[in-house]
Amino acid sequence: MKLVTYDSQGIQSVGILEGEWVYPTGYGSLLELIRAQKPAQKIGQALAKGQVQILAPIPHPQQDIICLGVNYMAHAQESARFKKEDFNGERPYAVYFSKRVDCALEDGGTIPSYPGLVDSLDYEVELAAIIGRDAKAVRQEDAWEHVFGYTILNDVSARNVQNRHKQWYFGKSMDGFCPMGPCVVTREEFAFPPALEIYSRVNGELRQQANTRDMIFDLPFVIAELSQSMTLRAGTVIATGTPAGAGMGFTPPKWLRPGDLVECGIEGIGVLRNRVGG
Ligand code: MG
Repeated sequence: MKLVTYDSQGIQSVGILEGEWVYPTGYGSLLELIRAQKPAQKIGQALAKGQVQILAPIPHPQQDIICLGVNYMAHAQESARFKKEDFNGERPYAVYFSKRVDCALEDGGTIPSYPGLVDSLDYEVELAAIIGRDAKAVRQEDAWEHVFGYTILNDVSARNVQNRHKQWYFGKSMDGFCPMGPCVVTREEFAFPPALEIYSRVNGELRQQANTRDMIFDLPFVIAELSQSMTLRAGTVIATGTPAGAGMGFTPPKWLRPGDLVECGIEGIGVLRNRVGG
């Protein structure tokens, strides 16, 4: 099932997306639906998708997004090359960090470029998992029961800011740096862990292309490892890392510029399109 959060005449709601139609569910937000612990059902009349404004699935995450860093081997290599660091090809422990999101950007929304502050704006297509049931001390084999569904997330990054401040937090948490959507696909639609084609394009040029099965640390591992000591609340968003081909991976780097169109796609979910603003 595909779910969308949408605005119709100033009222925010969650709908079931089928082709070009959105069926109201009676829920005002995805977090409300997740907490209800009931499957979404169609109530009332379908609305044409073009007549509503599709928002990010969770416009205001309750906590920071949990992110995986350098979770695909080829991206770990390009990242080390960019920072002129040695990389021996070993990644024994997962890299976790967080990304603050005041308001997740919807499909079609404009990514701000912060001229004067940011000189190296970059994109990162990622599969994001949304936790559906509070997770504490969950075993890998039970992790699936704690997943609600999946969406696409663009972990927009200001490389100069993330590097000079030593922590990635500031350079990845600026307003507008978290495009998310266009929809959420519920967990039963995919294998677990998901094995989905993932790609990004900038102005039509293919930049990233991989499969989510190539992650170094997969979702069962991540949910089990984090939840042994952290409560992952229902509604938590986990961004699982980006494959090779981010702008910093090219020589010279291919940074985003005002007017660029970034498309982030994942098989079975759709395409998240955002243009870079001035
Ligand atoms: Mg990332």
